[in-house]
Amino acid sequence: DFETSSRSNSTSLSRRYRPIFFDEIVGQGTAVQSLVAAVSSRRIDPFYLFAGPRGTGKTSTARIFAAALNCLAAEGIRPCGVCGKCDGYVSGRASYLTELDGSSSSARIRKTAASAALKVFAVKECHLLLPSSSFLRLLEKHRRRSAAVFVFITSDADNVPEAIRSRCRKLVFGRIGSDGVLSRLAKISADENFDVDAEALDLIVSNADGSLKDAETILEQLSLLGKRITIPLVNDLMGVVSDEKLLELLEIAMSSNAMETVIRSRELLDSGIDPTVVVSQMASLIVDIIAASHRCAAAAEESSSSDPLSLSEDELNRLNLALSLLSDSEKHIRISSERSTWFTATLLQLGCLPGSSSSASSRRKLTSSTGKDKSSRSECMNSSSSSSELLNRIWEQCIEKCRSKTLRRLLLEHGRLASISDVQGGLLVAHIAFRDRNLKTRAECYLGSIATSLESVLRRNIEARIVLSPESKTT
Ligand SMILES: [Zn+2]
Repeated sequence: DFETSSRSNSTSLSRRYRPIFFDEIVGQGTAVQSLVAAVSSRRIDPFYLFAGPRGTGKTSTARIFAAALNCLAAEGIRPCGVCGKCDGYVSGRASYLTELDGSSSSARIRKTAASAALKVFAVKECHLLLPSSSFLRLLEKHRRRSAAVFVFITSDADNVPEAIRSRCRKLVFGRIGSDGVLSRLAKISADENFDVDAEALDLIVSNADGSLKDAETILEQLSLLGKRITIPLVNDLMGVVSDEKLLELLEIAMSSNAMETVIRSRELLDSGIDPTVVVSQMASLIVDIIAASHRCAAAAEESSSSDPLSLSEDELNRLNLALSLLSDSEKHIRISSERSTWFTATLLQLGCLPGSSSSASSRRKLTSSTGKDKSSRSECMNSSSSSSELLNRIWEQCIEKCRSKTLRRLLLEHGRLASISDVQGGLLVAHIAFRDRNLKTRAECYLGSIATSLESVLRRNIEARIVLSPESKTT
C-alpha cells in the first residue's frame, strides 16, 4: 500500500489522535459542514476536490467522509463509530476506502476499483495525475455507474488537470488558525500527561505554521525526550541559529543580493527555526556591532590614530535603520499567519536601506568588528563558477520538494537548472535543460509541479521553461 511508511509508525501521536468524527477536524468549518450536510441529506457528489496546504486535515476528512457514507446507523451522527462498518474504520482498516497517489500507475487503480460497493477513492497529490491518463477514462465509467465516490486531494489546486477539476465539487481547506492548533496540542498534552509549559506550546504552534500535522510531530518528538517541555527545549529541537550564521545572513541581506538572501532565508526556515527568534537575535547582534564600533572609536580617539574597525557614519546609520526595521517587523511577524513570508520580506528590505552599495570594505568591517572574521564568501552571481554552484543548490532543493518519485528521478538524472533570470514584475524565469527531445517532452508534463517546487524554494513567482541542452541530439 502507499501508506506503508506511515502505517508502520502506528503508535505516533498523529495516528493515535487521528480524528474519527467530523467535529474533531480542526479549523475547517465550511468544508466539514458541507460534507455533513451531504451525508445527512444523502446528496452525494461523485467527485470532490479537497484543496489546501499540507497538514490541514484533507486526508483525515476524506477518511471520515468515507466512513460516514458507509456507516450503518439509521439516524443520528454518521460515522457513528460503533456499527460494523465503522468498526473497521476506527481500527484503521476500512475495506471501502482506497487511498491512492496521483503519481501511481492507473493499472493499479483499475484493479482495486473492480470490487466497488460504495467505495471511496482518496486520490492524494492528484495534481500529479497526467491529463491524458487512462485514469480519466475510468472516471467517466464511474460517473455513469456512480458506484464510487472519488475524493481528489491536492496542495496545488492550480495544477490539477482541468478534466478533474471541472467534474469536482471543490472544498477549500485553509491553514489552521493558531488557536485551533493550540487547543488541539493542549488536549493531547493533557490526555498524554505531558509535562509542558504553556509558552512552549505557543512556540510549537508558531513553528508549525498552520499545519496541525507538523505541530503534532514536533510535540511528539519533544515528548520522546522525556523532559519537561520548555521554550529552551523547543528551541533546542528546532535548532538555534549560531551568531556566525546570523552574521552571514545579515551581510548577505544588507548587500542587496536578493536571490541569495531568499535562499538562505528558506534554508534557515526549513530547519524549523522560529522567524521571530531569528529577527530578535539579529537585532541584538546589530546592537553588539554598534557597541563594538563605539568602543573602537573611543580607543582610536585616545591613541589619536584611525582605527580600521570603527564604522563610518554612513555604516552606523545603515545599521541603526536596520535595527529599527527589524524591531518593527518583529511585531508584524509575531502576529502574522504568514511568518516565513514576512521574515523573508524583512531580510529583503534590509538590502533596500539607503546607501545599500554592497561595498566589500563595509562587508569586511561588519564582519571584523564583531571579531568573528572568516573567509568572505564570493559574491554569488558574479563569477560563473559560484553562479552554477548556486543553481545546483537551488536545483537540488527543488528536486527534494517534488512529491512524485518518478518526477524526482527524471529531474535528478536528466534535468539541469540552466539559468534563472529576473523579469520585471517580480517574476523569475527558470530554464530547465534536458539532453534529448523525449525527456524534454516528459518533463513538460510536469511543468506545473516543477514550477511549484521552485517557488517553494525561492518564495517567488516562477515561470518554468523546459529547454533542450545546447549539446543535445536533435533526433
Ligand atoms: Zn457507523
